[in-house]
Amino acid sequence: MSKAIRTTGFQLPLNSYQIGSWVINLFNLLMSSVIYMPTLPLGSQIAYGILYYITELSVIILAIIATAIDPSDFFLKSKGKNKDNIECEIGQSICTICNSTVGNLSKHCGVCNKCIDQFDHHCKWLNNCIGLSNYSYFISLLWCLEINTLLLIIFAIILFSEFNNNRSNYSDRVDNHEVYLAFTVLTFNVNLFVLAGNTYLIAFHSYIKCKGMSTFDFILMRREKKENEEKKRKNEVKKPSENSLSHENENKKKKRKKLKSEENQEEIIADCEDENS
Ligand SMILES: [Zn+2]
Ligand SMILES: [Zn+2]
Repeated sequence: MSKAIRTTGFQLPLNSYQIGSWVINLFNLLMSSVIYMPTLPLGSQIAYGILYYITELSVIILAIIATAIDPSDFFLKSKGKNKDNIECEIGQSICTICNSTVGNLSKHCGVCNKCIDQFDHHCKWLNNCIGLSNYSYFISLLWCLEINTLLLIIFAIILFSEFNNNRSNYSDRVDNHEVYLAFTVLTFNVNLFVLAGNTYLIAFHSYIKCKGMSTFDFILMRREKKENEEKKRKNEVKKPSENSLSHENENKKKKRKKLKSEENQEEIIADCEDENS
């Protein structure tokens, strides 16, 4: 039986990373409403409430859009019913797995089992591929999440200082202040990890954007660089006599290269996932 084609990130089975991200998001929403809001001083409460809920709403909406978009190749979407008549023109190539003409920048994702228009990477957090149709939503999501997480950390610090400097004020606002403080510490720590990972992703995508590359291009470039370095090192180690003895038949080499190229694409796509997790 052939593998099913995934259409969006909401299609079952869900990814454990995706479930984890929604659990953390709901945890933060709960902590903000139940722990932060009642314990913050009045002025901070208003500022926090406005900023937090705007960014939280943006994060939820952007995550839903980026997950719900089908980033399939244009030709797959429009020529799906006409797969027998495959013609390849300039700016196009053929995917033997999809059995269709696809765009030159499209790559076949093994997880989604389809070609993605301007493939960037398969995102475990959204359980969807990131390509031309949803890349801008993905980047906007990262920025909104960054502000959202920073707010949770900054206001936790405000609460810590309030507890240390005006303990009586803090205790007046809530009964079980130790429980509230423990949950604030927990929220602070969870979001430190989220902030570190998200900041890395923003820095990484800003870097590749400046270089005009996708995640796939970046991983490919890094692999080629590594392979070239290894080849160079091996050549340096080999003696000249060994070099002449180990000359391989050119046809054999080409055949092996061709077999490896399909395998390599799968591996590069898997590395793209890891780079973004
Ligand atoms: Zn394909
Ligand atoms: Zn995918």
